Amino acid sequence: ENKDQKFVYDFTEGNKDLKDLLGGKGANLAEMTNLGLPVPPGFTITTEACKVYLDSGHEPTALRDEVSAHLEALEGRMGKKLGQADDPLLVSVRSGAKFSMPGMMDTVLNIGLSDASVTGLAQQAGDERFAWDSYRRLIQMFGKTVLGVDGDLFEEALEEAKEAKKVTVDTDLEAGDLKKLVKHFKKIVKTEAGRDFPQDPREQMDLAIKAVFDSWNGDRAKLYRRQERIPHDLGTAVNVCSMVFGNLGPDSGTGVAFTRDPASGHQGVYGDYLQNAQGEDVVAGIRNTVALAELESIDKKSYDQLMQIMETLENHYKDLCDIEFTIERGKLWMLQTRVGKRTAGAAFRIATQLVDQGLIDEAEALQRVNGAQLAQLMFPRFDEKAAVEQIGRGIAASPGAAVGKAVFDSYTAVKWSRSGEKVILIRRETNPDDLDGMIAAEGILTSRGGKTSHAAVVARGMGKTCVCGAEELEVDTKRRRMTLPGGQVVEEGDVVSIDGSSGKVYLGEVPVVPSPVVEYFEGRMHAGADDADELVAAVHRIMAYADRRRRLRVRANADNAEDALRARRFGAQGIGLCRTEHMFLGERRSMVEKLILADHEEERAEALEELLPLQRADFIELFEAMDGLPVTVRLLDPPLHEFLPDITELSVRVALAEARKDHNENDLRLLQAVHRLHEQNPMLGLRGVRLGLVIPGLFTMQVRAIAEAAAHRIEAKGDPRAEIMIPLVGTVQELEIVREEAEQVIAEVRRQTGVELKLALGTMIELPRAALTAGQIAEAAQFFSFGTNDLTQTVWGFSRDDVEASFFTAYLEKGIFGVSPFETIDKDGVGSLVRNAVEAGRATRPDLKLGVCGEHGGDPESVHFFHEVGLDYVSCSPFRIPVARLEAGRAAA
Ligand code: ADP
Ligand code: MG
Ligand code: MG
Repeated sequence: ENKDQKFVYDFTEGNKDLKDLLGGKGANLAEMTNLGLPVPPGFTITTEACKVYLDSGHEPTALRDEVSAHLEALEGRMGKKLGQADDPLLVSVRSGAKFSMPGMMDTVLNIGLSDASVTGLAQQAGDERFAWDSYRRLIQMFGKTVLGVDGDLFEEALEEAKEAKKVTVDTDLEAGDLKKLVKHFKKIVKTEAGRDFPQDPREQMDLAIKAVFDSWNGDRAKLYRRQERIPHDLGTAVNVCSMVFGNLGPDSGTGVAFTRDPASGHQGVYGDYLQNAQGEDVVAGIRNTVALAELESIDKKSYDQLMQIMETLENHYKDLCDIEFTIERGKLWMLQTRVGKRTAGAAFRIATQLVDQGLIDEAEALQRVNGAQLAQLMFPRFDEKAAVEQIGRGIAASPGAAVGKAVFDSYTAVKWSRSGEKVILIRRETNPDDLDGMIAAEGILTSRGGKTSHAAVVARGMGKTCVCGAEELEVDTKRRRMTLPGGQVVEEGDVVSIDGSSGKVYLGEVPVVPSPVVEYFEGRMHAGADDADELVAAVHRIMAYADRRRRLRVRANADNAEDALRARRFGAQGIGLCRTEHMFLGERRSMVEKLILADHEEERAEALEELLPLQRADFIELFEAMDGLPVTVRLLDPPLHEFLPDITELSVRVALAEARKDHNENDLRLLQAVHRLHEQNPMLGLRGVRLGLVIPGLFTMQVRAIAEAAAHRIEAKGDPRAEIMIPLVGTVQELEIVREEAEQVIAEVRRQTGVELKLALGTMIELPRAALTAGQIAEAAQFFSFGTNDLTQTVWGFSRDDVEASFFTAYLEKGIFGVSPFETIDKDGVGSLVRNAVEAGRATRPDLKLGVCGEHGGDPESVHFFHEVGLDYVSCSPFRIPVARLEAGRAAA
């Protein structure tokens, strides 16, 4: 805690770039204030203050005085004091972290109301009902979030009050009813919290501030941060904002809006409005909202002003913004704005639209989208033509095609998904307590709420399919079922399909078809006019921006012509990894078996002789598919026993045969070989270059097949660019031996065919020792390909197949990794070896070609790293190629 540190900023002091310090809400409230927009005055307590509080358990000593000074200034400006009996200043105490965490943390409205000031407020507003409504809201919110009282108790009391009065909506309760309700609420607080609801306004405010700090470490907030990969140590800011009232009668109200449709990206009037309501009524779906467009007929002046402000905000932020506003007796107030979350499709459309509007340039457009979104757009969709019964339609809140068993509560969603079931979480509406169920579900379906409802906002944020507000479906969570308009019932466990792009809900499983974006990459779709094509056109343009800028080339991991051709259509500039072990499976397995079992030269030669033409044919096909582009062929890599039968099965078979006195010579030999080759740690055993060195003729057969295939292609006027890659090299000596043999074979093929062959020979860098001695290894290698999967395993000393299921979850939960190092490259450890090997390798051989062929080659964050360390290319699976191209472009932009 630094003495001169400033912990409180007036809204006039901040700006949008201070999100670290003021949180997103605070920074943007300040920005709007300084833009001259109508923001109720207030101040922000910094995330630094929160951090001090969370670390030490108490607020910074200077905080109280600073808050007092800012409160006094606010009171001066407003001409009234917090909670003043005859004319109270009321404030909201609002959480607001750097990254938006919708509904995850706490906000308390109407702070400053008490038994004394509620009458003053009634008199000032000339509306007794309003004052008591505000007071009951305060006790309810304060009771729940600050004093930890179960919120249902208040809800039940409210329901009772409505029932007693025989009305259905809260606005039908009159002042007298609300007064009684306040009494009831206070009793609930007293019994449940063991204290009276605090009457001192400053005490209310201080307790609320503390509660907001504490809410940073609430279970919901923690879960959300893990899910969204938001660091746990950022803390939240607290905004103290003077209240404006949307619950002052029909000429008041509150709403939320987007400057564009967050689902399609189209410009227009999108949002929801609720008359005579306060704060969270809109999002919570308490009463039915009206479309924002209707505000024009309710209050034209405010509507026009709002449209004007939305335009100002879009031009200022140069992006889609979402906003919260309140109208108090015909006066518009802005309560929040931020650059809004959007669907993946909308992100691409908006980025190109903004380029067309001249608001951003191409490089900026690339920053507005990302590879994860592109990957999402490549997911399959429902087949529109499938004959599956449509049972309803709601609002297309978050796109995707989700199929699963209907569940009606979060607990079941989590339980069933843990046991491997796909589920669709169906609720009337969701609230933050449903978060873990939403994470577990394939998709979310609600019968109430609009595009801005909790379900919609959170699902979009998670990239999860969501249909909301499917009103004709009557959801009965207590009986775990929903009823369709015709009386038909969908029970828990029935399969439903929901389409987040159309809002359609189906009973049963709808088959899926490829997404238009994949159709486009496949070359089967071109820009046109309908809805899907608009997206395709945007993707097409963004990919062009990326391709123009990127320095990294993108290759594919592919072992056959079909994959290679697809990869080419997707933009691959070669094959970075052709795994030859895949070519030894199926019926060829027996030949490998024979090779392994051979105990003299002829037998071995025979086996190799059989394999050679098959391999050659594989390579001819591959070189033809990738004509003119490099193809890196990795010689056989996996431990030999992978080609042999399972040891237990075989032992049983042999034992049974012995018992039957049915002697099988071959099985016996096989069993001996399996025993001989059995390894405790096969990943660290006889594999890669070690195989090549101990099984005579294996690698030379493969090299011959490659060379002959290349010669064949050249004779056919093709342009093969084969690169031979040796796996699992740890020292330059290994490579030198293999290299010498390979060169001899290549020279032989050259002589035999009379074709001039240019074959590059290089190695994988996938052992720490190889990375550490990269300078020496480069003497014998024309290229390096970083095998970051094995490198990660060997640097960390854990085997991927074992650890991901055993302790990774615990590690992720404890924050040891933010993300699995097999998913995103561990920059500090594995990455630093890569960086050093790049330098050392290039120092030895300046024209050394450098690439990566591990899973990381298609991971967005890792692609940025590989760009930064100066690799020439990344290689990834064909479907990740567009993602890698995009991210390589973003890295260079
Ligand atoms: P969240 O982060 O969950 O959106 P907010 O702090 O934005 O929480 O507040 C919750 C609701 O209360 C929002 O609808 C907001 O617009 C409303 N609200 C917050 N402060 C005020 C205020 N000073 N006057 C009127 N309404 C407010
Ligand atoms: Mg808000
Ligand atoms: Mg490997």
